[in-house]
Amino acid sequence: MLLSVKFRLYQTAQRGHKVLNRLKSSLVSTGIFKSHIAKTTPSEPLDKRTTVVVLGSGWAGFNTIRHLDPSLYRCIVISPRSYFVFTPLLASISVGTLEPRCIVESIRGRGQLWNKLCSALWKTSGMSYQSSLEVAEAVATEVDLQKKWVMIKPKINGVKSDTILRIEYDKLVIAVGCYSQTFNIKGVKENVFFLKDVDNARKIRNRILERFEAASFFTVSEEHKRRLLHFCIVGGGPTGVEFAAELTDLLNDDLKLIYPSLMPYTKVTLFDVAKNILSAFDKSLSAYAESQFRGKGINIRTGVKVLEVTPSEIKIINSSGEPENIPHGLIVWSTGLAPNPFTSYCTDIVKDEKQNLLTDANLNIYCRVKDTESMSEVRVVDKDVYAIGDCAQIEKYLLPATAQVANQKAIYLSKKLNSEARGNIKKSKLPFTFENHGIMAYIGGWEAVVDTGSASKIKGRTAWLLWRAAYLSMSVSIKNKILIMIYWIVSFLFGRDISRF
Ligand code: FAD
Repeated sequence: MLLSVKFRLYQTAQRGHKVLNRLKSSLVSTGIFKSHIAKTTPSEPLDKRTTVVVLGSGWAGFNTIRHLDPSLYRCIVISPRSYFVFTPLLASISVGTLEPRCIVESIRGRGQLWNKLCSALWKTSGMSYQSSLEVAEAVATEVDLQKKWVMIKPKINGVKSDTILRIEYDKLVIAVGCYSQTFNIKGVKENVFFLKDVDNARKIRNRILERFEAASFFTVSEEHKRRLLHFCIVGGGPTGVEFAAELTDLLNDDLKLIYPSLMPYTKVTLFDVAKNILSAFDKSLSAYAESQFRGKGINIRTGVKVLEVTPSEIKIINSSGEPENIPHGLIVWSTGLAPNPFTSYCTDIVKDEKQNLLTDANLNIYCRVKDTESMSEVRVVDKDVYAIGDCAQIEKYLLPATAQVANQKAIYLSKKLNSEARGNIKKSKLPFTFENHGIMAYIGGWEAVVDTGSASKIKGRTAWLLWRAAYLSMSVSIKNKILIMIYWIVSFLFGRDISRF
C-alpha cells in the first residue's frame, strides 16, 4: 500500500517535472527568459569538428575526453568540479597517508614546461586534448533529445547562480555518476560523513583530529571521551573496509604515540546489514579480512539495521533483533549508490529498475518516442547520446558500478567516436565488452586482499604490494605518481600529518 502511494507520488512528481520542463522550453524559445538564457557560442565557422558535450569529470567523463581526438572533436565539458579524483586512494587522504593533491587531476591540463618537454622528447606536434577543451563549472539540469541541447546552471562564485545556459551538441556523453545511498534513514544526511570527493576526505580527517583534541581537553569525562573516540563506519563494502583499515593504521601508527592516554577510549566499529563484510569477494578472502580486523580490535557488527542517526547516537536493530542506541564521535557512511537527480530529470530516457540510464551494447541510450501510427510509446536508440559510468547500465549485461567499468566504457566510447569520425564504421559498431581485472581492498597493516575472479585469490603482504603497484600505475599523471610515492615514503618515515587546518 505504502509502496503504491510512494510510486504514485513519484509518478506525479515526474509528470510535474516534465510539464515544468516543457513550459521552461517554450519560454526559452519565445525568448521570455532572455536575460538569463544565453545560447552557447557556436563553433568557429571554419571549425568543421563535431561538438561533443561531456557531462561529468569523474572516471567516465575524464577518460572520455582524454582519449577523444581533438582534431576531430570539439569537446565541451560540463561538471561542477574542474578536476578528476582518483577515488581508490580517497581513504588514504581521509587519514593523512596522502595529501589531496596526490589524487586530483585538473581537466584543464598541466604547466607549459612539461608539455614542451613532452613535445620535444616524443615529437608530439598534434593538439593535446586539453588545448582544445572548453570547460564550464556547472551542472546539467535538463536535456532535450529532439532539439539536441542540454541546459546548464553555473556552480562557481562570480557567475550569477540564476544564469541558465543552453548548450547544443552533436554528440552527448552523460557521465554524471551517482550520489551516496542513504535509504532515507532519518538523520543520515545531516549527521554522517560520506566519502565521495576530496572535500569529504578533508572533512573526515579534520573531524578525527578534532575528536582527539576534544577528548584530550582537561574537563572531558571518561564517558564523553568514549563517545568522542568511537569511530563508526556503516557499510562493509570495499570503501567502508578500506576506510576502517586506514583509520586503524592512523590510530596504531601515529595517534597512539601522540595521545597514549586516550587509546583505552578509542574504538572502531564497522556495521553492515549483510552477514559478512566484503561480500563481493571470495568467501575465503572475506573471512580473512574479518579475522584480521578482529585481530586489530575492530568491532565488526554484521546483520545490523540502522534505524536513525543523531549527532551523538546511532540507533540500530542488532543481529538478535533488539534495538540499541550507540554513542558515536564520527560516522562514515558508505552503503552504496543512489541515482543522481539529473538522471531522474531525464524523463525521455529509458531507465532500469535502479534508475540507471539503460544503454545498448554500443552505450547509446534508448529514448521514448510516440509512435504516430499506434499512438503508443516506443523506445528507439538515440545514436548521438551515450551514457557511461555509475549512472548507466547496459541492457542484459549487468556490470558493477566501479572505476574499472567506467574507465573501460570511456576508453571504448572515445575510440568508437574516433573511428566513426575517421570513417571506420565497421570498427565503430563493435559492441562494448568488459575485461575483468579483479577486485582488491586494503585491510590495514600493509595487508590487502585481491580477487582476480578465477582461481587466483591473493591475501596478505603480497596482495598489499599488488594493491599499491596497481593504484600507482593506474593513477593518471606522472606528477601524481611521483607525489604518491613521495608521500608514502614521507608518511612511513615521519608519520601522517596530524595538523588540523
Ligand atoms: P564519478 O566518478 O562519481 O563522476 C561523476 C562526475 O559527474 C563528477 O565529476 C561530478 O561532479 C559530475 N556531475 C554530477 N552531477 C552532474 C551534473 N548534473 N551535471 C554535470 N556533471 C555532474 N572503483 C574501483 O573500480 N576500484 C576501487 O578501488 C574503487 N574505490 C573507490 C573508493 C571510493 C572512496 C569511492 C567513492 C569509489 C570507489 N570506486 C572504486 C568506485 C568508482 O570511484 C566509481 O565507480 C567511479 O567513480 C564512477 O565513475 P563515474 O564517472 O561514473 O562517476
